[in-house]
Order: sequence, then structure tokens, then C-alpha cells
Amino acid sequence: MNIQVITIFPEMFVALTDFGVTGRALKQKLWQFSSINPRRFADNELGYIDDRPFGGGPGMIMQAPPLQAALDYAKQQDSSAKVIYLSPQGKPLNHEKVLSLAHEKALILLCGRYEGIDERILQHNEIEEISIGDFVVSGGELPAMMLIDAVLRHLPQVLGDERSAKEDSFCQQLLDCPHYTRPVEFAGLAVPEVLLSGNHAEIAKWRLEQSQQRTKQRRPDLWQRRENGDS
Ligand code: SAM
Repeated sequence: MNIQVITIFPEMFVALTDFGVTGRALKQKLWQFSSINPRRFADNELGYIDDRPFGGGPGMIMQAPPLQAALDYAKQQDSSAKVIYLSPQGKPLNHEKVLSLAHEKALILLCGRYEGIDERILQHNEIEEISIGDFVVSGGELPAMMLIDAVLRHLPQVLGDERSAKEDSFCQQLLDCPHYTRPVEFAGLAVPEVLLSGNHAEIAKWRLEQSQQRTKQRRPDLWQRRENGDS
């Protein structure tokens, strides 16, 4: 998957490109990453790409022309790419959306800053708006990184053991079961007997029951959707 990010803070993305699962996958060329800084397309030498909002009010707005130039440049690299604007006003990101994005060949992610972007960028282009939750953060970079990380986990060979993504929370509309590792006893708490039994059928049964119980208790909404057979 080819991922291009439009951002004024490309350095932030080292968290993805240089670390952990996503960093290793990049080295293995399981995905490609590039960033485009819209300041490159500023009409002034200082690289300013924001201006005061028409109508007044606090903060600054990212201007349409440099963002459009950055988008056009990204599209030239890959015209089939799906374009996403990370926005608190978008549809909330969830497991189903992550799975559907994992089928895309290429993504262009537009990260806002300040009070956001000039609305005409959204009117003029085919762009899907995606939110990471009902709260506001200072820029689209962290939301974009969360989206990329979640999507990459579903690409072939990215995880050491592909069962991991299939057994994670939200697959089959269940939360994951509890996990334990050595030592067998910690703070007076023992690992459940069944996990030490070596009986794989019993272990699988126990894990499923734990997942079901947790989902019912912690996420009755998810449990209900599962019961109703909703996707
Ligand atoms: N004034 C905007 C509003 O209330 O809708 C918020 C602007 S926010 C300070 C700056 C940028 O952060 C946004 O343009 C967007 O790219 C990003 N952002 C903030 N919260 C987000 C969220 N929950 N999901 C995705 N992106 C978000």
C-alpha cells in the first residue's frame, strides 16, 4: 500500500516509519510512505500557508491554494489513491472502516492544523472525512498515524503472526480475552489453571467465554450488534 501524507509536520511520522511493527513493515517494503509539505507550494518566501478566517474569530485557517497544489501533486504520484481528510467532523473510524481501507491500493491523508482547512478544498475534491473520536486534537498528524497503524495491521505479512489481527478486539464483534505470561504468580494472583493445562480445546473455550463475558459487560452496544448479526 502506498501512503502519502500531506502535513506541515512530516517529522512526526518517524513514530510510524522508524518504530515497531510499522517501521519493520516499511523496511520490508510491505508499504511505502512519503510526505508532502504544503509549505512547498506557499506563495511567499516564508512558507506561510495559513490566514485569518473571513468573518473574524479566533485562530487561523489553512489556505486552499497550497493544499490544492499538494493534493494535485499527490494525485499525480498515484491517481487511484483514496483521499482522506482527518477531521473531528468526519465519520468515526472503526474496525469495519479500517478493514475496508486495508483493501485500498493507495491512500492520501490530509492533516489539518490551526482551526482547520478552507472548506472549498472539501467542496472541490472527492475527499472522505474520518474522525478518530468525539474530541479535538491539535492536528491531523496523530489521527493519521492511528489510522495508518490500524490499517497496516491488516496487510499480509505485517504482523509476525497473522492470527494476532484476527483475534484482536472488535474482530467478530468481540473484545479480546485476558492474557497472562510468566511468572505464574504475581502479587498473590495466579494465572487461570486452564491456561497451564495444555488442553487446547479447553483453552479456546475459556478464551471465547471470557471474550463474550467482557464484551457483554464492557460494550453492551457491540454485543447487541453481534447478537443482531449487524456488521
Ligand atoms: N475547528 C475544528 C473543529 O472544531 O472541527 C478543529 C480543528 S483541530 C484544532 C485541527 C486539525 O486537527 C483538524 O483540521 C483535523 O485535521 C485534526 N483533528 C482534530 N481532531 C480530530 C479528530 N477527532 N479526528 C481527526 N482529526 C482531528
